[in-house]
Amino acid sequence: MRPLLRDLPLDQFPDLLRSRGHAAYRGRQLAHWLFEQDAFTWDAMSNLPRAARDDLAAEFDVAGLSPLEKLVGSDGTRKYLFALRDGHTVESVIIPMEAHATFCISSQVGCAMACRFCATARGGLVRDLTRGEIVEQVQRLRRELAADPFPQHGDRQFNVVFMGMGEPLDNLPAVTGALDTFVAETGLAMSVRRIQISTSGPRHGLPQLGTLRHPVGLTISLGGADDAARRKVMPVSGRAGVDEVLAAAEAHAARSGRTVTIAWVLIADRTDDAAQAETLARRLAGRPFKVNLIPLNELDDDPLRSASNARVLAFQDVLRRAGVPATIRVSGGRDIAAACGQLRRRRLQRDAVALPEPPADTRGDESHQT
Ligand code: SAH
Repeated sequence: MRPLLRDLPLDQFPDLLRSRGHAAYRGRQLAHWLFEQDAFTWDAMSNLPRAARDDLAAEFDVAGLSPLEKLVGSDGTRKYLFALRDGHTVESVIIPMEAHATFCISSQVGCAMACRFCATARGGLVRDLTRGEIVEQVQRLRRELAADPFPQHGDRQFNVVFMGMGEPLDNLPAVTGALDTFVAETGLAMSVRRIQISTSGPRHGLPQLGTLRHPVGLTISLGGADDAARRKVMPVSGRAGVDEVLAAAEAHAARSGRTVTIAWVLIADRTDDAAQAETLARRLAGRPFKVNLIPLNELDDDPLRSASNARVLAFQDVLRRAGVPATIRVSGGRDIAAACGQLRRRRLQRDAVALPEPPADTRGDESHQT
């Protein structure tokens, strides 16, 4: 695949056209079309000479994503499946919040972390997304929102969360590059306050949290309050002990000045018992953390069930009594398979119907069924 223009660091744009014999200000025009006008075609860049566009088109692609499917949930959540240039697919979601929209974007096609409860984990990691593919998701969603804003939000403001497919700390160069583009004045000019990275905290990625150039918000998906419990539901990320993960998260809180969110998926009989709640409360109390409790979004073909409402409330109560702030997440788009990886998985399954069954010993999913 050729590079995307949006894969480039922003400081390369002035030289990009100058080095090809065009006036330097053409580079600024190009960046304007790309990042301010959300242009996804060469034709859209009307004031850029045809010769300049042709020179660039010989080396770069201007779009990396094309819309494949759009689903709208009863709560207004819009879920998009985008085709990449190599035929793989990624999901991005627009979730209406009270005062703004949240864009939930992907950092990888698939994921290597193998979390038991996650649909994205089922096919393993296919490939990393590039910086430009990450940036383009936000721009495509921004354009969708501008064309069809939520009536309750006047200002079309949006937050960006890396809670779609993939593990951001497993693809950090592209993710940090995308963050640079998000916050730069000549990029998307977003406030860093509006950006949140969510990570399962894999051991190999944890030290890199300290290298983030921007004080983004951080969510840690924990899944277990002690090492053994964590490893059971998060076999790869669970290799980083709970102490290690919380210490890295606390250091990020100190650096960024922002409270870190601990995401806890509540699975019946796995992660919803009072003992885990007590242990979690003890570990978090008095530290710069708040907890977001997420009742499991059940997958069609998996026996794991969501914790009951009573258990969710009891879990929250234990945390609150220990002085740990804890909210319960109402998941957007339940009726349209909006949990990470579900839409892509459903489409892969539908496409697979037409293919011959693989021999039993090569079927990929069984190892994830618990
Ligand atoms: N890899 C990153 C970001 C993607 S997952 C991470 O782990 O944080 C984003 C969030 O969705 C995580 O908090 C994860 O625990 C949660 N999640 C994944 N599958 C889920 C499901 N079936 N139901 C509820 N939450 C789920």
